[in-house]
Amino acid sequence: MCFGGGKDPAKPSCTGAATPCPAGTADPIDQAIEIVAKSKFAKTEEGKKVLKKIKELRKNGKIVRKKLGKNTLGQWNGSEIEVPDDATDPEFIASSVLVHEATHALNEDEIPASKTKFTIDEEMRTNTNELDLYEEQRARGYRSAELERRRKARKDGKLRDDVRKRYPGLAEHL
Ligand SMILES: [Zn+2]
Repeated sequence: MCFGGGKDPAKPSCTGAATPCPAGTADPIDQAIEIVAKSKFAKTEEGKKVLKKIKELRKNGKIVRKKLGKNTLGQWNGSEIEVPDDATDPEFIASSVLVHEATHALNEDEIPASKTKFTIDEEMRTNTNELDLYEEQRARGYRSAELERRRKARKDGKLRDDVRKRYPGLAEHL
């Protein structure tokens, strides 16, 4: 599937199944990886690990396009990051999909028990990382309604409550 953007990455120059991107247009997933790679977040200890994971997954063909449910921004399926098939904005893909889902992957590498048990702790880690990148994206004008809400919750010291609302009944810890 081609999502290659022209000068404005938000406006894809082509869409459709199995269409190779024309030369000179970057895949928004690669543009998103560039956004992460150039970020201050990627210079932090946590960010370095997340970026490494994203690059490793990309190299191994483990970042895939997938038709996802309406309320699913992205998904880690245990071996691949699934990017919504209609997502074209590299800023959205960078924070809401790649950093978030690669953090799940990283968490599973570091804490094997998290492979079979999803917790609020794990989702706090993904949300914290994506919000750290979002802060930089926000400074250059990007806005996500979903991340605005989470950002405010974090500022108010209520991010964990926000996560709990999204995953009712989920175990707090491993
Ligand atoms: Zn998550």
